[in-house]
Amino acid sequence: MRVAVLGAGVAGLVCAYRLTQEGHACDVYERWPGLGGQAATLDVGGGELLERYYHHLFTSDRHIVALYEELGMGDELEWKPSSMAFFLEGRQWAFNGPLDLLRFGPLSPPARLRMGLAVLLLQRRAKDVGPFESITAREWIQTRMGRGPWRTVWGPLLRGKFGARAEDISMAWLWSKLTLRRPLEGDEARQELLGYPAHSWELLFEALREAIVAGGGRVLVDRPAAALRRDGDGFVVSAGASGSFRAGHDPRGFAHAPGEKAEQRYDAVVATVPSDVFAALLDDDLRAAIGDEYLGRLAATEYHTALCLLLELDRRFSPFYWTNIADPEVPFVGLVEHTNFVSPARYGERRFLYVANYLAPGDPLLELSPEELLAAYLPGLRRVQPDFSEGWIVARWLHREPAAQPIVTVGYHRRIPPLQTGVPGLLLANTTQIYPEDRGTNYSVRLGTDAARALLDA
Ligand SMILES: Cc1cc2nc3c(=O)[nH]c(=O)nc-3n(C[C@H](O)[C@H](O)[C@H](O)COP(=O)(O)OP(=O)(O)OC[C@H]3O[C@@H](n4cnc5c(N)ncnc54)[C@H](O)[C@@H]3O)c2cc1C
Repeated sequence: MRVAVLGAGVAGLVCAYRLTQEGHACDVYERWPGLGGQAATLDVGGGELLERYYHHLFTSDRHIVALYEELGMGDELEWKPSSMAFFLEGRQWAFNGPLDLLRFGPLSPPARLRMGLAVLLLQRRAKDVGPFESITAREWIQTRMGRGPWRTVWGPLLRGKFGARAEDISMAWLWSKLTLRRPLEGDEARQELLGYPAHSWELLFEALREAIVAGGGRVLVDRPAAALRRDGDGFVVSAGASGSFRAGHDPRGFAHAPGEKAEQRYDAVVATVPSDVFAALLDDDLRAAIGDEYLGRLAATEYHTALCLLLELDRRFSPFYWTNIADPEVPFVGLVEHTNFVSPARYGERRFLYVANYLAPGDPLLELSPEELLAAYLPGLRRVQPDFSEGWIVARWLHREPAAQPIVTVGYHRRIPPLQTGVPGLLLANTTQIYPEDRGTNYSVRLGTDAARALLDA
């Protein structure tokens, strides 16, 4: 088969790699002028690569670990201690294990115990997501932990990540975060270990690209799909012109590529693009063939945008790798100090801090320039680190990812679009289908493999 894979993120590259292994030639179309999608890197100067958005792995991320090993790159992954804190009531509270919970001043001692026990019981007993699919995280937290932990910890955290949708988020989403990632017992109870590739995520993408090309395929970066239509029992992909990424995300706004690049015929198409982008690629005939039920699931998808300011600083910002902000006065949700996790020695003693946010489409913060955003964030940064001044900033980069976080509300599992679109040979595999786990590169490895299998088994 000749297969077009749309998107060179983790799912697209893995899907094309699996199809290549089975002897099929794949063309991978990618809008961005680089590989890796949401896990893509940028050159922060001096050839040093860093992810545009903070990234690490959990010890439970077995699919991506297995892929590294399969590619002969098992040594790439390094596991290092993490350090996490909550910022509220004017200070960072260490939050690395049960002892920190017992010392967590913002909650009363009985509330601390109740919260810890509720998580422990969930981890021990709740092996199946089923019972958590029909209640919200708020309901569960208030019932099992009490109102204090909701008001002080979980409410602010969920509002930070999901804004006005916080109270609607399904307990299924929180269940996966609390049970699948890290046990509260055993060695990791005391000190969580997180993984990071010795040479950033880029080496994995390069290895996949090389394997696809060696199998007769192509990985076409800065060559988006602009439109998709049927041609007999196959499909035609119309490519967008290079530089289309500057026109935004909607493929209907892309100029078409000139000459022989413009249109290519394929026997099958696997799209790994966001649901709204996929719907915008389809012509009327394909829309009719896919049908209203499936299109309705695509249209019902809600995403929040990641807005991520990466700062290079001339010194350490705080002692923690990861700080969750639970203070409603601070206009961002997290601080991720990469060089408190990966040694600054790795970057010639340079230090990097991500200022993380998730916002609903249309939020005014999304319109700001890097300078304006920094000005809006400065009081919040100073609230966490009172000595901080703009003079600490050596360089900065700003990235926005519209389809960063699918919104998982009650009943979400019933609305997930299947991999098979209903049109033979046309599949969709994107982060909205990762469930009940929260999306992550590990699950996109699984998704890419599942999509290849679904195409070949059909
Ligand atoms: C702020 C942030 C932090 C994160 N932190 C972590 C973490 O610590 N650990 C972790 O494992 N995961 C993390 N993730 C999640 C992880 O990066 C994603 O879940 C994963 O990379 C998704 O891969 P994907 O291939 O499924 O989708 P994507 O990466 O979204 O890939 C889709 C691809 O399609 C491309 N595309 C779009 N339109 C077109 C078009 N018209 N034609 C062709 N291509 C197109 C996009 O450019 C993109 O490359 C984070 C994500 C964000 C945003």
